[in-house]
Amino acid sequence: CGIVGYIGHREAYPVIIKGLKRLEYRGYDSAGVVLYDNGNLKLSKTKGKVSDLEERAEKEITLNGSIGIGHTRWATHGVPNDVNSHPHVSNSGNLVIVHNGIIENYDPIKKELIKRGYVFHSDTDTEVLVNLIEEVKKQEHIKLGKAVQIALNQVVGAYAIAVFDKQNPDEIVAARLGSPLAIGVGEGEFFVASDASPFIEYTSNAVYLDDEEMAIVSLDKPVTIRKIKDDSIVDPYIQELQM
Ligand code: GLU
Repeated sequence: CGIVGYIGHREAYPVIIKGLKRLEYRGYDSAGVVLYDNGNLKLSKTKGKVSDLEERAEKEITLNGSIGIGHTRWATHGVPNDVNSHPHVSNSGNLVIVHNGIIENYDPIKKELIKRGYVFHSDTDTEVLVNLIEEVKKQEHIKLGKAVQIALNQVVGAYAIAVFDKQNPDEIVAARLGSPLAIGVGEGEFFVASDASPFIEYTSNAVYLDDEEMAIVSLDKPVTIRKIKDDSIVDPYIQELQM
């Protein structure tokens, strides 16, 4: 299971695919990617290997876009199949998420969201989380980062996530509790990944998130890190990786 996200001046797709291959050692049963370009989200996902994803994506979508997130899944909730593969999209079609880990209390949250009119297409706990973020964002009229924070304070479990919003496609929100996540800080570009191997060829500057921390990476801004629980700002500790 692994996560790779990219935002910057390069084409995101090759960065993500190469990165997912570097994370293959972590084990997985499915793979997927979503790219944003010119107002559109382009999603491709499949049960199987990253090479199966490449074959499928090349037929299914156009591969350009300089923001995207990719995932390798190790199924915990819902069998390994195409629909349960990540990324997952929220009901509005705006929010996309990749997630490693488990949301233990997904069932009551799902029931509540269904009461409020949400529809679910997969059997995953992850699709519940992305719609919870959407509902919080809608109710509170807040930005994605804040909505992710509030939603994460309502869930019990373990996660590394990366999320972005089609309506504000110049930032990625990432968070971790129990599953590793590193941010690569380049020149006018950021990487989000389960370890540094997907981005070490592009930048040697990395911030490793601690448990219960979230990061907002926005183009043309320094990375911001906060504690999920109390909203306090954490000074990012940028490590120099040995190439
Ligand atoms: N719990 C999620 C799922 O079953 C994520 C699994 C993972 O860590 O890849 O889809």
